[in-house]
Amino acid sequence: MVARPPPKHKKHYVEITTQFHADGSLTFLNLTIYGHSAEQMSTLIQSYVRRRGSNLTLQQQQGLGQFKELEKLQTQLVESNELILKYFNAFNDIFFFGCLKSLCKVQFYPQEAMRPGLRGQCTYPQNGTCLIRIKSGSRKGPPKTRLTGYLSTLVHEMLHAVFHTYVCRCGHVCKNRYAESVGGHGIAWQWAALAIQESTMAILGIEKDYNLGRRCPSEDLEVDALNDWGALQAEVDAIQRSISPRTPDLPQKPTRL
Ligand SMILES: [Zn+2]
Ligand SMILES: [Zn+2]
Repeated sequence: MVARPPPKHKKHYVEITTQFHADGSLTFLNLTIYGHSAEQMSTLIQSYVRRRGSNLTLQQQQGLGQFKELEKLQTQLVESNELILKYFNAFNDIFFFGCLKSLCKVQFYPQEAMRPGLRGQCTYPQNGTCLIRIKSGSRKGPPKTRLTGYLSTLVHEMLHAVFHTYVCRCGHVCKNRYAESVGGHGIAWQWAALAIQESTMAILGIEKDYNLGRRCPSEDLEVDALNDWGALQAEVDAIQRSISPRTPDLPQKPTRL
């Protein structure tokens, strides 16, 4: 009797290894579009954004330098594609190890061009490319307040883009796994979002963390009440739907990349 081959999904994820360089830069070898599990990507992001101070990678330091320059601008018109793209590039280096470079387009869209209830949306016009839309006018108040709101939406959508771009969905097994761990705001997405949210104040030096529209303080995943920085109301409903039947199964601290 011939043994059945192991289920495809258990073996075929590409292993990601980390390489440090003398100049302080860090590269992830074998990072592959559609190559990994949601848990791999979540763990990778969590470990990357937990770096602080002198442990920041060269890329994070450069992104942080760009972010601080942008924060000095006294821009009144924050609904600017040029400005949001610069923040995208900075966040890509600070939180996402540059993995979205040249894969995403970021643009403000007028209210009427987007679904009601959404402040942002990430769509995928072609394989491996993402379009991040930020709804213009969805944030109220003075320019700085509006900008902060737009930026928390931006980071939220960038996280969707990373999972969508790098997680395998090759067949029904992988598709189901993806739907469970990521789809909408599943558990792998939640842990990564929490780690990013907790690092916004610590790395960026801002006064209050970006609210990515989710919380998982310890064992239980809870959705925080929306505040001025709150992310997407409609998506928070989706978070609650996505987390309610399950218990967390990801380690809080990364164990293996
Ligand atoms: Zn697969
Ligand atoms: Zn979302």
